[in-house]
Amino acid sequence: MPTRYSALSLLRHGLTRRPWPRVWRDHDLEPSYDVVVVGAGVHGLATAYYLAKHHGVSRVAVLDRSYLGGGGSGRNTAIVRSNYLTPEGVRFYDRSVRLYESLAAELNFNVMFSQRGHLTLAHNDGSLRTMRWRAEVNKLQGVDSEVIGPDDVKRLVPFLDTSTDTRYPILGALYHPPGGTIRHDAVNWGYARAADALGVQIHQNTEVLGIIVRDGAVRGVRTWRGEISAPVVVNCTAGWSSLVSALAGVTLPITTHSLQAAVTEPVQMFLDTVVVSGTLHVYVSQTARGELVFGASTDPYPSYSMRGSLEFTEELAGHILELMPSLAKLRVLRQWAGLCDMTPDFSPIMGVTPVEGFLVDVGWGTYGFKAGPAAGEAMAELIATGKTPELIAAFDLARFGQGRLVGEKGAAAVGH
Ligand SMILES: Cc1cc2nc3c(=O)[nH]c(=O)nc-3n(C[C@H](O)[C@H](O)[C@H](O)COP(=O)(O)OP(=O)(O)OC[C@H]3O[C@@H](n4cnc5c(N)ncnc54)[C@H](O)[C@@H]3O)c2cc1C
Repeated sequence: MPTRYSALSLLRHGLTRRPWPRVWRDHDLEPSYDVVVVGAGVHGLATAYYLAKHHGVSRVAVLDRSYLGGGGSGRNTAIVRSNYLTPEGVRFYDRSVRLYESLAAELNFNVMFSQRGHLTLAHNDGSLRTMRWRAEVNKLQGVDSEVIGPDDVKRLVPFLDTSTDTRYPILGALYHPPGGTIRHDAVNWGYARAADALGVQIHQNTEVLGIIVRDGAVRGVRTWRGEISAPVVVNCTAGWSSLVSALAGVTLPITTHSLQAAVTEPVQMFLDTVVVSGTLHVYVSQTARGELVFGASTDPYPSYSMRGSLEFTEELAGHILELMPSLAKLRVLRQWAGLCDMTPDFSPIMGVTPVEGFLVDVGWGTYGFKAGPAAGEAMAELIATGKTPELIAAFDLARFGQGRLVGEKGAAAVGH
């Protein structure tokens, strides 16, 4: 077991100047595993962790072509919430919020989950109607969510311009108190450390170049470090997921788009909640260090580029200043981009595929970081028992052929 992090062990290490052990270890690649997980983001790591923790399956390899958390899991804006639009979505994301609430204690790793509340602004009657609809669906699923008026919005975020003579007046908002932010790197590293301690092998810099399929069933993978045989291969590669699935001959209804974000210089704390405007395609939160983190919707064209663009910064700045004119002098420190695997209904795809033993946990678009724990838990159960858990049954791949879409766009497009 790894060193337990505690005030006492901090003191002991400080006094003895003993170095801290590595958080996860490197291994030689073995010729076979019970399960190969492709992608060491939050989904791959959580799946491996719950396989070992809940089901005792620890001959698991997590392979990543790059470094752990180098995909969307280390690039996101770390918003966690469950105020979605469909009952299937609300139930699923609520399970994740609950797992996140106890994750720091479970992993013995401070994931800095800050449930500071999440506000989605309505600037017109149409949005207000959707907010009411979402609030009712949320309440029916036991999720704390309500529509509030401009005065309450002002009370929660005094810096917002709630006057009525603006271009986009704030008519109200969907307020979701359990929503908030988390420290994404800590979640990735916490899962990696706990999975490693349970015997899971994490292999960075190990790209999957081929998936071996014979007689309709998966037999293993080909990597640049050699071949591995395995009866189960799980695709957790988000923005790259359609490419990886194609290696197994499985076509996914996914297009990949870039999503950009930006962070400002740190300023005194003034923003306690996450603020989202779907109409203006922006959202903002303040980190514990005081920086403002801004996000938007995806770039409008498919791309595998992870570069920022000036158009994004210009548009973002204009829209943020509509909401908070007093930020005009704030300087942007950094901007970046990641890849998002968008499905037609803005809901994920989890479960079996036509190739036996080849499973997918993909289609996470701009909203998948918050889903890591619930998806990992459910995928681990599916692998260990062979039965699809009720919680993810609606998100199967077959729904696209059978016309059972889970339309989540109204709550997922912005507001990650
Ligand atoms: C700017 C931005 C902001 C976001 N904000 C939020 C947010 O606030 N809240 C939220 O919930 N979600 C957010 N998201 C979405 C979220 O980041 C992703 O949905 C989530 O991280 C996906 O996690 P994952 O583990 O499935 O994939 P990833 O973390 O993307 O990991 C996939 C891994 O697969 C690896 N890989 C790819 N191909 C191969 C191969 N052939 N062989 C081996 N490995 C391979 C990659 O190297 C990568 O490490 C945001 C995304 C971005 C880009």
